[in-house]
Amino acid sequence: PPDVEALGRSTWTLLHTMAATYPEAPTRGQQSDLVSFVGLFSRLYPCWVCAEDFRGYVAREPPQVASRDDFGMWLCGAHNEVNRKLGKPVFDCSKWEERWRTGWKD
Ligand code: FAD
Repeated sequence: PPDVEALGRSTWTLLHTMAATYPEAPTRGQQSDLVSFVGLFSRLYPCWVCAEDFRGYVAREPPQVASRDDFGMWLCGAHNEVNRKLGKPVFDCSKWEERWRTGWKD
């Protein structure tokens, strides 16, 4: 079976990087592609308990895809829901772009 932790770290990198490179003003087609991706991802992610809980989140909190910032914040919320469940620190979502797109300022 897959290593759920290594898979998770790599997958969050992929997902947050997709948010960081998503357009600030996406076309309708880009928005509908992203909604489709999230829906398919939630059914295909190869950690089945993770995927099941993620489907619950998607059902309660529909993906926000109108802009890069909307999607980045939505995804940060999804990741924080998993952080809470696993007893990990909650991430400050005002810093998602600094973490995943522009780089930390120090
Ligand atoms: P990760 O949680 O993998 O985070 C990687 C990096 O992302 C962190 O170092 C931090 O810099 C940054 N980060 C943290 N939080 C946020 C945030 N909210 N927004 C932006 N950046 C952030 N594991 C389970 O055991 N059970 C589950 O049910 C489960 N469900 C998952 C569902 C999904 C959709 C995914 C992708 C993963 C899931 N995982 C689950 C894996 C889990 O979330 C972690 O990836 C894994 O435990 C490794 O954690 P980590 O501490 O290395 O950091």
